[in-house]
Amino acid sequence: MPSRFAEDVLSPRYQLRSTSEVKHTGVALTLNHSKLVPGICIFPVEVLEEIILAVLVPKRVFSSIANFSLASYQFRQIAFRNFFKTFCASSIDQWTNLRKVPGVVSWARSLESVSIVVFSQLDNLAAFTNFSSVEIDMSPEGLSTQHTFIKYLFKHLPAGLLHLTLSFLPRVDTALLSRISEKFLNLQTLQLTCTERLVDDCCWDCYEEASTCTVHSPIPDVYVDAEDLSYAFGTALVPLTKLTTLHLGIFLSELDIFQYHLYDCRCITFQTLIGPAVMGTSSFGGPDSCPQCFELFSKNVRATELFASACIARTLPALETISWSSFFAEDNPGDDQDNLTTTAWVLRKDGKVKVRRAPWC
Ligand SMILES: [Zn+2]
Ligand SMILES: [Zn+2]
Repeated sequence: MPSRFAEDVLSPRYQLRSTSEVKHTGVALTLNHSKLVPGICIFPVEVLEEIILAVLVPKRVFSSIANFSLASYQFRQIAFRNFFKTFCASSIDQWTNLRKVPGVVSWARSLESVSIVVFSQLDNLAAFTNFSSVEIDMSPEGLSTQHTFIKYLFKHLPAGLLHLTLSFLPRVDTALLSRISEKFLNLQTLQLTCTERLVDDCCWDCYEEASTCTVHSPIPDVYVDAEDLSYAFGTALVPLTKLTTLHLGIFLSELDIFQYHLYDCRCITFQTLIGPAVMGTSSFGGPDSCPQCFELFSKNVRATELFASACIARTLPALETISWSSFFAEDNPGDDQDNLTTTAWVLRKDGKVKVRRAPWC
């Protein structure tokens, strides 16, 4: 239990001047000496902790707290305890070195890392029993390795997890959802995304190739339609009775829409006997930037998104919002056109479940 007052925290030789000012990246705190008992500083630890947290807000780098941590042993404990609340390791070396900091295992409340790094440190992972939030970048994994990694990852995570984020997933399916709901019964936030693998910043060929490495649109190849998908996902998530926020980063538009865009909207130049000819009408980009696809498909897809949201909300009693990836986000409170997501808010009234793309109150 940390000391609450500065007489326990500050070094014995530390004396406040008549007016002391502590400044850190926009945070200023002034102490008036006249209000203090001479010789005794009543500087609450909570204030020091707030200063450290404020310092770390703009950029979570160790250099921000380095000088503070050198002031005394107690200051160092406060600085480290707050800095290492998030255990952020993007490389194996980083994980290995940070793990050597005494106390880091008990301070860490959340983990941010990459699958390949975590996999190399599985034995160390088990020592972090206080994690309540875990965020893993799954981009090094493929369709054939996702299952194995998830199996070992979950085995070494605490069952009391409240927030779980897996990004850049090759696929989101019932096998993954069932594993999550079996292990993490207290989960409040669940974010599973894979559509960010569809990078559209190069050319048609790269876009098409990226689409083959992820199951971004599981209808109709994996699930016949939105009803089939909703039933399967909802059933798999039933044990998560405390889940309030769910984000499933897959497209509910049928794969045929993506294929249509890829082959029918694409500009293809080919040589004819009388010279070059161009086939297609659209310049490069996903269906989200294609007026033709928007005109043809957006209305049905958006209705499907709300339908699936309501179906899943019926199986999760605490669910407040549910989000999907969408090529057809519009100018709505629940739509994010930059990140291609759409969010529905859930209302439960008279035993019925309603959803809409805006908060209900
Ligand atoms: Zn390319
Ligand atoms: Zn198109």
